[in-house]
Amino acid sequence: MTKKMLQFVNLEQTTPYKRGEVERKKDFHEIYKEFISEKAQEQSSRCSQCGVPFCQVHCPLQNNIPDWLKLTAEGRLEEAYELSQSTNNMPEICGRICPQDRLCEGNCVIEQSGHGTVTIGSIEKYITDTAWEKNWVKPIKVKKEISQSVGIIGAGPAGLACAEELRKFGYQVTIYDRHDRPGGLLIYGIPNFKLEKFVVERRTKLLKKSGIKFIQNFEIGKDKSLYELKKNHDAILIATGVYKPREIDIPGNNLVNIFTAIVFLTASNRKGLGDKVKLFDDGTLNTHNKDVIVIGGGDTAMDCVRTAIRQKAKSVKCIYRRDQENMPGSAREVANAIEEGVEFIWLTNPKKFIGDKLVTGVQVNKMTLGSADSSGRRKPEIQENSEYNIKADIVIKSLGFDPENLPELFSAKELLVSRWGTIKIDLNTMQTNFEGVFAAGDIVRGASLVVWAIKDGRDAAKEIQKYLKEKNNEKSKVKAA
Ligand SMILES: Cc1cc2nc3c(=O)[nH]c(=O)nc-3n(C[C@H](O)[C@H](O)[C@H](O)COP(=O)(O)OP(=O)(O)OC[C@H]3O[C@@H](n4cnc5c(N)ncnc54)[C@H](O)[C@@H]3O)c2cc1C
Ligand code: SF4
Repeated sequence: MTKKMLQFVNLEQTTPYKRGEVERKKDFHEIYKEFISEKAQEQSSRCSQCGVPFCQVHCPLQNNIPDWLKLTAEGRLEEAYELSQSTNNMPEICGRICPQDRLCEGNCVIEQSGHGTVTIGSIEKYITDTAWEKNWVKPIKVKKEISQSVGIIGAGPAGLACAEELRKFGYQVTIYDRHDRPGGLLIYGIPNFKLEKFVVERRTKLLKKSGIKFIQNFEIGKDKSLYELKKNHDAILIATGVYKPREIDIPGNNLVNIFTAIVFLTASNRKGLGDKVKLFDDGTLNTHNKDVIVIGGGDTAMDCVRTAIRQKAKSVKCIYRRDQENMPGSAREVANAIEEGVEFIWLTNPKKFIGDKLVTGVQVNKMTLGSADSSGRRKPEIQENSEYNIKADIVIKSLGFDPENLPELFSAKELLVSRWGTIKIDLNTMQTNFEGVFAAGDIVRGASLVVWAIKDGRDAAKEIQKYLKEKNNEKSKVKAA
C-alpha cells in the first residue's frame, strides 16, 4: 500500500475528491485508510532496520521507531505498544496529527532513497488504537503516594503530559483550565476530521482515573492570581499555550462577519462535540452555502478552509501573499485542501475589506517575490495598480498567534517574558524567574506542535521532580537540626 493511499483517502474511496463531490460523502473524515493487522505488519516489515535511525533522531520524542516497527512486523503488538507509550503520552494522537513529512517519515532512509517512506505515523496510531481496543491502556497505579502537590495551569498536551509523568512518580496533581473541557487545542483547535474528539476525551478520562484532579472553567488571573495559586501547591507549571490572534491592520477590519480562525474553529469543534452554539446555529459562524475567504497560509488556515468545505460552503478561497512553494504550512495539508476543492490565490495580499455593515468582499493586491529577507525567505512586494475585488460572505483571518500578556493577566508583573511575550525559562531547569514556577509548551516556544508540547511537558515533570525532592531534603535537614 502506498503512502498516498494511506494518507489522502477517505475510508471508502481511493481517488481524490472533486469539487461538489464533497456533499455526497457521508463520513468525510480524515483521511486514513484504516489499517488491518496484516497491512500494519506489511508496512512495518518495510523498515530496513538501517542502523542509522534518522526517523528516531527527527522525532522530537526520540521514539524508538525501528524497534516498535520490528515488534509490529512480528505480530508482537502488545510489546510494540509498551515500547511506544514509554516515550510518548499520546502516541495515537501524534500518529494522527504530527506533520510526519517534516519529522520521522520525511527522514526515513527508504523515503530518502525514493521508495516511499514507511508510514510511521499510521502504524503508531494503529498500535495504540489497538491497545485501547484490547484494554491494554490502563490508569496509573501509584506505588507510593507523595504528599507534595503540583498545580498545572493549562490542560493542553504540555500540561497533560507533565501531569501524567508527575502522577507516575506519586505526586498530587491538579490541573486548572479556563475552558469547560480539558485538551487545549486538541479539543477546541484541531478539527474533528483530523483528530476525533473521543480520542482526546478517552485520554483525559484515563488521567482522571489515575487520580489527577481537573478544575475546569477556572482562569488564573481571574479566579485566582498566580501568587494565590502558588500558596496552594509546592510547585506550579504554566502551560497556557498562545491564544492572541495576530491582527491585520487594514480598513474595514471592523465589518460584521470577519472572524479569527480560533473563533471559527472553536465554534465548529463545539458543534462536533454536541454543544449548542448560538452563533453557529443562527448561521453567523456556519459557512454553509457561503462564499468564504480565508487569509493566511499556515496549517491553521488549512484547517479553516477544510472545515468550511465540510460545512458545504459555496466556495472557499485561500489568499496568501507568497507562492505555494513558500507557504509555511505542511505541503501535505495544502495538497489535501486542493484535492477537496479549495481555490488558492497565491501572491495576493488583502488591501481592504469591502462592505457597508456586513463584509461583501476583499480588495486585494497582486504581489511579487523580491529579494530574501533576514530569515532567508523572499519578501513579498506589492505590484502597483494591481487591485481587484474578491466576493465574500464571510472572512476568516488566520495569521498566527502570539502569547497573551501573561504578567498582566496573572497579576504577576515580575514574571519575565521575552520580547515576543513568551515566558523566559532557565533552559536547564525549565524554571521561570519565580522560584518553584516552571513553564512548558507553546507559551515558552511560541506556536509550535503537539509533539513538542508533549516533549516539554515530560521534561518539565523531570525538573519538577528534582526540585521537589530537593525541597523535601531541605525540610528534612531543618527538622533534624
Ligand atoms: C487550529 C490549530 C491546528 C493545529 N494543528 C496541529 C496539528 O495538526 N499538529 C500539531 O502537531 N500541532 C497542531 N497545532 C499546534 C498545537 O495544537 C499546539 O502546538 C499545542 O496544542 C500546544 O500545546 P500547549 O499545551 O502548549 O497549549 P494548548 O494546547 O494551547 O493548551 C493550553 C491550555 O491552557 C489553558 N489556559 C490558557 N490560559 C489560561 C489561564 N489563564 N487559566 C487557565 N487555563 C488557561 C487553555 O484553555 C488551554 O486549554 C495546531 C494549532 C492550531 C491553533
Ligand atoms: S511522535 Fe510524531 S514525529 Fe515522533 S514518531 Fe510519532 S508521528 Fe513521528
